[in-house]
Amino acid sequence: MALCLKQVFAKDKTFRPRKRFEPGTQRFELYKKAQASLKSGLDLRTVVRLPPGENIDDWIAVHVVDFFNRINLIYGTMAERCSETSCPVMAGGPRYEYRWQDERQYRRPAKLSAPRYMALLMDWIEGLINDEDVFPTRVGVPFPKNFQQVCTKILTRLFRVFVHVYIHHFDSILSMGAEAHVNTCYKHFYYFIREFSLVDQRELEPLREMTERICH
Ligand SMILES: [Zn+2]
Repeated sequence: MALCLKQVFAKDKTFRPRKRFEPGTQRFELYKKAQASLKSGLDLRTVVRLPPGENIDDWIAVHVVDFFNRINLIYGTMAERCSETSCPVMAGGPRYEYRWQDERQYRRPAKLSAPRYMALLMDWIEGLINDEDVFPTRVGVPFPKNFQQVCTKILTRLFRVFVHVYIHHFDSILSMGAEAHVNTCYKHFYYFIREFSLVDQRELEPLREMTERICH
């Protein structure tokens, strides 16, 4: 029987809380709408489409936050199996290696262990989605001009979490009985980024074969 991911999550005290939408806000309503269509059993390829009359940036914002929460949770459930020893380099198999770069400590691309890379990645996204200048939550405050660019970068980096988890920790996914859950999240993510061309095709290459298999 599948292990409840929420239980695993609750056990991990070091894990960051989920970002939530404030009830009563437009984005909360949009989030509820997206969740409802997700649960309605509709095809995932259909549920990612922008509902008529909605703003694309709002739609992207809601999904970026939701994917961050869900992917963060997935990685968190297997984080103890992804260590400095098991994964000294953030990679996706022997062919793909990811280097970390930011505007703080790592101005030049740095070769880091997977857990270190993941920690920096999640901190970086968390910082952005909580930044009112990037993800404004107040009514009437517009998104910045580079909003979609920022989201492209966030989603591109989140995709790498899937790459690492699928290629290096697939046994953990199986032993936790989480394969269907992770696949559903992956498919939803994949259809979303394809719908709005948000991640470069080259970035998707490491999981291309698997994607062809599960995303018909
Ligand atoms: Zn790992």
